[in-house]
Amino acid sequence: MRVPRTQAAILAVVLSATIASAQTKITPPKNKYSPQDDVKLGQEAAGQVEQQLPLLRDDNVSSYVQDIGQRLVSSIPPELQHPEFRYTFKVVNVKEINAFALPGGPMYVNRGMIEAAKNEGEVAGVIAHELSHVALRHGTAQATKATPYEVGTIAGAILGAIVGGNAGAAIAQGTQFGLGAAFLRYSREYEKQADLEGSQIMARSGYDPRDMANMFKTIEQQGGAGGPQWLSDHPNPGNRYAYITKEAESLHVVNARHDSGAFQSVQGRLRQMSPAPTTEQAMKNGGNRRGTSAPSNGGRISTNVERPSSRYSSYNEGNLFRISVPSNWRELPGNNSVTFAPEGGYGAVNQQSVFTHGVEAGVMRNESHDLQTASDELIQELSQANPRMRRDGGWDRGTIGGRRGLRAVLSNQNDVTGRPERIALYTTTLDDGTLFYLIGVAPDNEYGAYDDVFDRVAGSLQFARSNNR
Ligand SMILES: [Zn+2]
Repeated sequence: MRVPRTQAAILAVVLSATIASAQTKITPPKNKYSPQDDVKLGQEAAGQVEQQLPLLRDDNVSSYVQDIGQRLVSSIPPELQHPEFRYTFKVVNVKEINAFALPGGPMYVNRGMIEAAKNEGEVAGVIAHELSHVALRHGTAQATKATPYEVGTIAGAILGAIVGGNAGAAIAQGTQFGLGAAFLRYSREYEKQADLEGSQIMARSGYDPRDMANMFKTIEQQGGAGGPQWLSDHPNPGNRYAYITKEAESLHVVNARHDSGAFQSVQGRLRQMSPAPTTEQAMKNGGNRRGTSAPSNGGRISTNVERPSSRYSSYNEGNLFRISVPSNWRELPGNNSVTFAPEGGYGAVNQQSVFTHGVEAGVMRNESHDLQTASDELIQELSQANPRMRRDGGWDRGTIGGRRGLRAVLSNQNDVTGRPERIALYTTTLDDGTLFYLIGVAPDNEYGAYDDVFDRVAGSLQFARSNNR
């Protein structure tokens, strides 16, 4: 039977309506920033990233990743296309299985990610997921939700949120954004949005969204202890594999592009290169040791250090906390930590950074979720970097920033300066279970002038409340 022309048109309309309703509708979260803000922040962060991380300069590999990226970009739905955004794709020559995208479009895919993928669809899956975070403007949306302090610190929080991990720390270090990097990851709600939007973008450009789910499995399997950075920055909202598969089924992709000869040849090319370094090896200033070490920041250790001022200055650290320290101490941002020290109390000795006077505040992952156990683990970790450290007495209980806290005093012989020193250690756990610590250090013979100062600094701590952990 021949269908009259008018009926055919109606049929077509009905069919396309069915397909449209089958895919999950994604609404970008509330955002008080403008798309231009995204662009500005992303460009600033990209400058930092490219100073700190080595880009892989290989035309074959670069253009391969750019091609996949651009194919996906052209499938971003019109309502999520921001004319200001400019998507770029670069390969970072480091071995961790990771990728990240900055607001407004700059994206970085680690060489380790391409090496770990089983096919092109898996590479496309991670890119589509990251792309969706950008198109949905999740970085600035996250900052819209979490604004415990003034706007000045928000930029750092946003950048840390998007980059996370080592690269985030690199940014934090370069731009004095403090601890934002460690403390903002995407919420599970945003993760699910990026998974679903990414699935739809993949399907429209001819990839099978199930390859995205497969890549997440690949990442998990290659995780090892603690899991790779990508998974910690992009937490699994639960049933990730199941709902992506369900979305994929509703998207009806036929003859999907899983693989291409180009993928095999790019992987072969990477295998012939010398192995990629770790991010930490690659970063010029990376890998500060925790404990009585600190960024040297051009400082010089001196035996004649000015006593702590009785006037105090306040600092907001990323999105995490506020702290007051003697006004003659300088702020020295590090990886997942920040040090405040007086002139002469920090510097580098034999290319090793060290601080002899002042405090370090930082965070540590806590698997046990028990304050006492986590605090003992912190001391163990500190003693690895400081073999002569020992605890004098037990833990005292108290409160820190309104939370249940512990305090202990340790003694150490600083293995860089050779001088005996005393350490006041304060710990508490944050909402997400992370261990927060404050370490005060002063030489034994000056400790009398610092004991009360450390208590006062610890007493000044105020933690931000974040609603998206
Ligand atoms: Zn994500």
